[in-house]
Amino acid sequence: MLPSLPFDPSHVLIGGAWRATPDTLPLVNPSDGSTLCRIARSTDADVDTAVSAAQTALDGPWGKMSALERGRCLTRLGQLVLDHADLLTTLETLDVGKPVTQARADAIALARYCEFYGGAADKVHGQTIPYLDGYTVYTLREPHGVTGHIVPWNYPMQIIGRSVGAALAMGNACVLKPAEDACLTALMFAYLAREAGFPNGALNVVPGLGIEAGAALARHPGVHHLSFTGSVETGKTIQGLAAQNVVPVTLELGGKSPQIVFDDADLDDALPFLVNAGLQNAGQTCSAASRILIQRSVYETVARRMADAYRGKTMGPASSDPDIGPLISTKQKARLESLLQADHDLTCLAETPMPDDLPPDGAYVQPRLYGPVPPDHPMAQDELFGPVQVLIPFDTEDEAIRIANGTIYGLVAGVWTANGARQMRLAKALKTGQVFLNNYGAGGGVELPFGGVGKSGHGREKGFEALYGFSTLKTVAAKH
Ligand code: NAD
Repeated sequence: MLPSLPFDPSHVLIGGAWRATPDTLPLVNPSDGSTLCRIARSTDADVDTAVSAAQTALDGPWGKMSALERGRCLTRLGQLVLDHADLLTTLETLDVGKPVTQARADAIALARYCEFYGGAADKVHGQTIPYLDGYTVYTLREPHGVTGHIVPWNYPMQIIGRSVGAALAMGNACVLKPAEDACLTALMFAYLAREAGFPNGALNVVPGLGIEAGAALARHPGVHHLSFTGSVETGKTIQGLAAQNVVPVTLELGGKSPQIVFDDADLDDALPFLVNAGLQNAGQTCSAASRILIQRSVYETVARRMADAYRGKTMGPASSDPDIGPLISTKQKARLESLLQADHDLTCLAETPMPDDLPPDGAYVQPRLYGPVPPDHPMAQDELFGPVQVLIPFDTEDEAIRIANGTIYGLVAGVWTANGARQMRLAKALKTGQVFLNNYGAGGGVELPFGGVGKSGHGREKGFEALYGFSTLKTVAAKH
């Protein structure tokens, strides 16, 4: 059952006021299929009002607030997130089906984003530029204006922290469109932002369907920058809509991230990262290590140890805090099961046992480990977005690089080897936005710039890079 909330979850937050929308949508608990509550189904008109409210905030107190004060608001917000970490954890557990420990880690991460960007708000500055005699030239870092944030359901708190946190730090006014499958923590975050002192309209939230509220935000001429995290197909649509207004877009899209294990790797160190980075959040992670490339001489050992780990994992409803909970919805379950039909010619090395008493209407899919899998097999190429990993043997370093770079994606890679020179060669050769050497951060901490190449997207969030992305540069040339 949904805990009591200090706002009505079927409302939008626009210009500091909670209001109803003409229609609502059901929000389902994927652990058991029950309906948690109704949420807003924002219309074009709601999105339009939210964009106007954001612009009004920019023209008013929010636009006049100093960087120091903006940072203080964010720092206070980080503390409020920590104070409400239990409630945020419960909401994410119910809404996303995320096991309690993993949901709590996301709540703590959200607080950390607020702290980081709160501290950074007044530390991004322009430069002076030597120019012709008689001139003083300098640059100013300024907010874009109204920023639109369209986020998915898999890590709502982390993704809101990294994009909305950075945008607010730079003085933008935000319109946030959370996913229709999971929006409770977005609403709670916006509630806390008001408590932290953000002026009305600095952060507006318009839940609803992607093809309605999401598209209305992406094509709105009053939006000056768009941050989108989600699937490649939707990313293409959003970039097309934004192009009509010549608006910059950050696209954080999918992945088929490899971890590469050489025969000199410390397998005891590597093992938990190889398995957990594939099964965390039931594999519904953009940077999930869904392909494990293993040098042939250690292939059997790694495969056996990973298979043992799969058999030892627990599954169950999110509130029982298992290792692996349900997928986000029965729709995603059906999608994954149809993709898994391509597995008929593959060897399944291990499955995680499914308890007999799982709620029948929950969105559970049995975790599966496959190997050896040919690198060009659809299961080794397509983003499955579920608790499934494939093992791919290789012989040489060049072959490993070729396989690792051989998908349309390029988000994250992990390399396990004791050979320092090889580490450097791979860090350079891998076509990804992040490379982890002898660890696997799956996106890494708030400080580490994150984003993709290829169909994994473009632009960077997290770290200071996000602050540059959520601002624009003005050059001032003064003749004297
Ligand atoms: P999705 O693209 O279906 O939806 C993401 C968001 O876009 C939702 O809020 C949705 O309502 C909205 N949307 C859908 N259609 C839209 C449209 N036509 N116009 C505007 N908005 C629209 O993605 P999803 O299924 O929610 O998320 C899974 C995908 O997200 C995976 O591919 C995953 O890899 C990716 N992802 C990437 C990152 C990253 O940082 N690179 C992080 C998390 C998830």
